[in-house]
Amino acid sequence: MTSQRALVTGGAGFLGSHLCDALLAEGWRVVAIDNLLTGRLANLAHLKNNPAFEFLEKDICQPFDPGPIDFVFHFASPASPIDYTIHGIPTLKVGSLGTFHTLDVTHKYNAKFLVSSTSECYGDPLEHPQKETYWGNVNSIGPRSVYDEAKRFTEAVTMAYHRYHKVDTRIVRIFNTYGPRLQLNDGRVISNFMKQALRGEPLTVYGTGSQTRSFCYVADEIDGFLRLAKSDEHLPVNIGNPNEFTILECAREVLKVTGSNSEIIYHPLPPDDPKQRQPDITKARQLLGWEPKIQLAEGLKLSLEYFKKAVAEEVTAAK
Ligand code: UDP
Repeated sequence: MTSQRALVTGGAGFLGSHLCDALLAEGWRVVAIDNLLTGRLANLAHLKNNPAFEFLEKDICQPFDPGPIDFVFHFASPASPIDYTIHGIPTLKVGSLGTFHTLDVTHKYNAKFLVSSTSECYGDPLEHPQKETYWGNVNSIGPRSVYDEAKRFTEAVTMAYHRYHKVDTRIVRIFNTYGPRLQLNDGRVISNFMKQALRGEPLTVYGTGSQTRSFCYVADEIDGFLRLAKSDEHLPVNIGNPNEFTILECAREVLKVTGSNSEIIYHPLPPDDPKQRQPDITKARQLLGWEPKIQLAEGLKLSLEYFKKAVAEEVTAAK
């Protein structure tokens, strides 16, 4: 029997490329699509000679047809606050047009579908921790709205294809994830702090650093995606690590892991920066038997070699 074919949109991104690896390891043939706006071919370089892997440089905001496919993982979108602020309109387009085109491919080939959504759907949450049943507190016209509303629309389109066309869909709400391949300059807190600590520069905490995030190591996150892919759950499922840290605590963890003496300095808090984020993962525990295994200190250690290499490459490139 020939192996099944999976499509990963956003396949050259941080999560998309890890997902390609995991699917190949499970015996899938994998087609990755990316327009390389924020994705990087370097994330897929190790797959270049793998006969089970194919890369298509394509913008899914235009209709596309990758041929018969069994499972579609829709992961295309800028995802860090800096990336989606720079690329606001492409972010809205990939969440809307890109999602329609990807669901059309799914429907045409009668494939299964899983889409990456986000804890941003909860906005600056008034309910804590966040359960999937919480509808969120999102500013529809603020600077983060290009991403938050695109993803909320993505969820709406996905549920519509499920309800009207009976497409077999799944929605994962992802909370802050980190690990190797996180882009050094994407402005996310872990990339910034690791880069700053390794360069001996001050760690830039925004606001007082009392805002919280809950960080999930990439291997745990991918394990959650694969379990959800095998389930029949159509409503959103939170996949994230419920262990919550203030940003100041996160800075201290990074200093510890890197052994850096960098000082901590304070910058203004960006507008609409959510005050707290913690997933309630009861649903994932009960439905998928999933929970994260790697806590922040260990995950940062596992990411250290990657960040050291990325910082060194940046120094070389600048010469
Ligand atoms: N943050 C920070 N310093 C940085 C980058 C981010 O204090 O150099 C804060 C940011 O204000 C937010 C949190 O860290 O409160 C997480 O930011 P990130 O951009 O990683 O993702 P978000 O969860 O806000 O989408």
